[in-house]
Amino acid sequence: TPAPKKLGVALVGLGYYSTDLLAPALQLTQNCELRGIVSGTPSKVEIWQKKYGIKDKNVYNYQNFDQIGNNPDIDVIYVVLPPSMHREYTVRGAKTGKHIWCEKPMAPSVADCEAMIAECQKNKVSLAIGYRCQHDPNIQHMMRIAKELPFGKPRMINSAAGYFDSRTTHWKQSKAMGGGVMGDMGVYALEGARLATGEEPISVMAQASTTRPEIYHEVEETMMFQLQFPSGARAACQTSYGINMNHLRVDYEKGWLKMEPQSAYTGINGSTSDGTIIKYAIENQQAKQMDEDAMAIMKKTDLIAPGEEGLRDIRVVEAIYKSVATGKEVKI
Ligand code: NDP
Repeated sequence: TPAPKKLGVALVGLGYYSTDLLAPALQLTQNCELRGIVSGTPSKVEIWQKKYGIKDKNVYNYQNFDQIGNNPDIDVIYVVLPPSMHREYTVRGAKTGKHIWCEKPMAPSVADCEAMIAECQKNKVSLAIGYRCQHDPNIQHMMRIAKELPFGKPRMINSAAGYFDSRTTHWKQSKAMGGGVMGDMGVYALEGARLATGEEPISVMAQASTTRPEIYHEVEETMMFQLQFPSGARAACQTSYGINMNHLRVDYEKGWLKMEPQSAYTGINGSTSDGTIIKYAIENQQAKQMDEDAMAIMKKTDLIAPGEEGLRDIRVVEAIYKSVATGKEVKI
């Protein structure tokens, strides 16, 4: 029998996440493999080619990126750039006819996300967002509870995701590059509430703050936001570059769920009020994500987290910034 087909992946932007997480995970995947790189830094290219055996003809920079369209080794372009660059490289990538995987936050604005979805549809290519947690069986257990309601309806959610970032001149601190904690760690706090309820928020009230104004003057260091859901459930969420925190609590009509951590790379776990321990083993989250997304492309089945899911978060993120700017509750 012929060897099973593997999709060839080209990583765009060889920063922290590509280097430390995605490239190692691509050594474990069954349905896809690392075949190409796109980088603006020649010294990285040399290291990557040696380490991962990447052919000269599969190496690109930001200028000749569009020529990937002629390369049969590459099936998927994975955009792992600062958020302000996601739209451009998704749109240019879609035009090459390759499938697109794009990191979170999908883009700084709803208009960006809509343009990305439209371009992928126009070119009949898939668009998956790198929501690794939605591929994690522990989070999927929580999503099943939201569907089957064994504890009744969710009423109150507390959701937090943050870490202490000591950097001072990174894109995370730049408005123009799409920085700010809300899009970065904030989407995990938001997803905690969205996935725990299985609902989309209808209004939000938010407060931005910083304890380090010398670093966080363009973007917020901390965001606290309160969501209201159609069923009447409410969520109090917090995200910060100033403090290590990662937990979720859901109080239902007749019980509760706790997850801590709720969005880590490894070891997401929790429990529910009936004594159930939620602790599914998972070998590698990013490998599972990429394998499942590759399989969905090959089998033409639904993606777990398509562009529309990225857009749902950004719609709330936009409303959160509007609430901060106006000091008022914003309807979504
Ligand atoms: P880094 O800053 O570490 O890397 C970004 C890379 O983008 C750079 O190394 C560079 O690669 C390239 N780049 C091109 N132009 C620029 C520019 N003007 N400024 C800065 N970088 C540029 O970021 P991360 O790897 O931490 O994040 C990348 C993306 O991945 C973000 O969207 C982030 O939110 C997401 N991410 C997702 C995670 C998850 O768990 N799903 C975890 C961490 C990050 P080169 O030198 O090769 O050109």
